[in-house]
Amino acid sequence: MSAAPRIAGVMVHPASQQTNIDSALASKIETTVALLRRSVAEFGRVVYASSLGAEAMVLTDLICTQVPEIDIFSIDTGRLPEETLALLERLERRYQRRLPVYYPDAGAIERLVRDHGINGFYGSLEARLNCCQTRKLEPFRRAISGYQAWVTGVRHEQSDVRARAQPIDHDPQYGLEKISPLLDWTDGDIWTYIRAQQLYYNPLHDRGYSSIGCAPCSRATAPGESQRAGRWWWEQSDSRECGLHPRKRPAAVG
Ligand code: SF4
Repeated sequence: MSAAPRIAGVMVHPASQQTNIDSALASKIETTVALLRRSVAEFGRVVYASSLGAEAMVLTDLICTQVPEIDIFSIDTGRLPEETLALLERLERRYQRRLPVYYPDAGAIERLVRDHGINGFYGSLEARLNCCQTRKLEPFRRAISGYQAWVTGVRHEQSDVRARAQPIDHDPQYGLEKISPLLDWTDGDIWTYIRAQQLYYNPLHDRGYSSIGCAPCSRATAPGESQRAGRWWWEQSDSRECGLHPRKRPAAVG
């Protein structure tokens, strides 16, 4: 991502002035919708696990308007920024569709906090993965139960690990197909689509957040930093996944 200009402390996305969908992006949109339709035709019950990030705005729009038979859910870990929850409510109003939310098990959260402290995830990689396991992976497993395939918004340029992702991949971790229809989209493509379609998005993006997860584990990134640099920034870069997607270093969970 090229350096983004800042105006009075507000980051302006490089693509924010571009609102026209050119033929190259139109082709990517067509390919994305075709893959989503193909996944339904081939696998039957398909679900999109929305992160509510910028990519999720594109996929939610394409699914709701083009392939509505794909279900959508999100996970409220209990540590999400208020901006993310407000965005979810706006999406439901825009698309006139309930977007189910899955929550972690209350007893498991109480045990986690009792054992590690309220912010114990800063203490070690093991504690952080333990928190992600309890707050994200366990509800995720419940949410995808009964589906044959799940859709993700990962893109090749987001990290070295994600650069190896395939559009359709069998996911042995969950025993179902993993569909990634945005792999070839650039950050500019995402923001051009958001502007062109006048989609809602998380206002934290305008404050420099490239990738948004839980509030205590996300921060704004500096110009030139990688897309994922603001997630779990205190860790080495090759561990920065929550466990839903593969990472280089062995995971303590999942
Ligand atoms: Fe816990 Fe942070 Fe993972 Fe959220 S991102 S589940 S707060 S470790």
